[in-house]
Amino acid sequence: MSEIVTRFAPSPTGFMHIGNLRTALYSYLLSKSQGGKFILRIEDTDQVRLVDGAVDVILDTLKMTGIEYDEGPDSDGGHGPYVQSQRLPIYKEYAEKLVESGHAYYCFCTQERLDSLKDEKGIGGYDGHCRNLSAEEIRKNISDGIPYVIRQRMPDEGKTSYTDVVYGEVEIDNSELRDQIMIKADGYPTYNFCHVVDDYLMGVTHVVRGNEYLTSTPKYCLLYDAFGWKRPTYVHLPLLMGKDAGGNVSKLSKRHGAVSFQDLVNAGYLPEAIVNYIALLGWCPKESNQEIFSMDELKSNFSIEGLSKSPAVFDYEKLKWFNSEYIKAMPVDKYEEKAVPILENLCADYINKKKLASLLHTRIAYFGEIESFISFVTNRLDMDSSLYTNKKNKTTPENCREVLEDVLPLLESVEDWNNDNLFALLKEYSASKEKKAGAVMWAVRIAVGRQAITPGGATELMEVFGKDESISRIKQALSELS
Ligand code: GLU
Repeated sequence: MSEIVTRFAPSPTGFMHIGNLRTALYSYLLSKSQGGKFILRIEDTDQVRLVDGAVDVILDTLKMTGIEYDEGPDSDGGHGPYVQSQRLPIYKEYAEKLVESGHAYYCFCTQERLDSLKDEKGIGGYDGHCRNLSAEEIRKNISDGIPYVIRQRMPDEGKTSYTDVVYGEVEIDNSELRDQIMIKADGYPTYNFCHVVDDYLMGVTHVVRGNEYLTSTPKYCLLYDAFGWKRPTYVHLPLLMGKDAGGNVSKLSKRHGAVSFQDLVNAGYLPEAIVNYIALLGWCPKESNQEIFSMDELKSNFSIEGLSKSPAVFDYEKLKWFNSEYIKAMPVDKYEEKAVPILENLCADYINKKKLASLLHTRIAYFGEIESFISFVTNRLDMDSSLYTNKKNKTTPENCREVLEDVLPLLESVEDWNNDNLFALLKEYSASKEKKAGAVMWAVRIAVGRQAITPGGATELMEVFGKDESISRIKQALSELS
């Protein structure tokens, strides 16, 4: 079998929708699972929608996610340019070929005329008015400078069909197809035309893209046929859906939450976790329930047979689970590189950020969640003395106050303030007073943390707060308990 060539052909819109990223990933995995080639092409012919810096968003996203292209705008493999606005003469040349062979024609209709074909809802196709102009008329119109477009001449009868890898047979009556524009009056091609020329010239064997193109693909097949080119294999992917408040699902959009790769990264999700999760939104491995996949594992496991045609639902809770698994698996130094700067931004100077980060390592699902975990650190929370009551340790506000009174002077005399020393000290104190260590720790933890559940125990919290703040909190607790 000849080499598989796939491509990702995004329009530079300024952000990378998660659904688009999944398309890129599947296209990449399809080729890489078979040792093939993957091409990046920028589809920027819709000049009205261009956004500054949008190409960089695409390049950065692919880099961060490890989706490496063999050929693309900054890596010429002999099929360039890879940016459509730099290929205008190529489209013109190929459009003219179809005019010569009778599969396309010049159309000089004015906008007014086209508007008059529309119904009151603004809907209406082209009526083929310029299909049969004589060579003489065409020459005259052109020399008179009348603007024109080039249209694809659709067959009047018959059917066009193709077999999509995911959806199966797709067939359309040719009579339903309008003579679509290939080259616009300003010389720019339409997507409908130029992507076909590019896919052919770039040697693309498998077109992987969203299913919004499923039913227009017969038109593209007709272009391949008109040129006498072999059609590629089509792999259309089901939509990504989001859960609506009412329990229904609809196309994943902003009202469901963050939908761009960048937004998720900014919220503190890891690119590897995002990639892993979206890989499973519409694909599953054949013979295993494995969920955690590195990119290399995805490359060796991916296969077309694992693709599903039912729409996949993007579940933020599931993404959180993946992300927390990836955070847990992060080496401490890499984790600290991300967590400590966030804590530095949020916490007072005296807080031991490394220690606090380590208490949170197995607890957070994404880095943006850190803030919500540490309100007890950044504020002295209002608390009710009933928090001192704990059945298991037999603690009450009264016996906790006794413990705090006892340990305060002991703590004040500690010179080397760290978890080990503090832990040893409180253990020794509980033994000497024949108290349960758990009861002593409970009293101190509540006094310092001021909330029922804290990441880390009493002495870990005291290490995080440092000596002055810990003692000040215990003094406050004592005055509240008196
Ligand atoms: N530029 C098109 C888009 O972003 C690409 C469609 C295709 O892959 O053919 O939707």
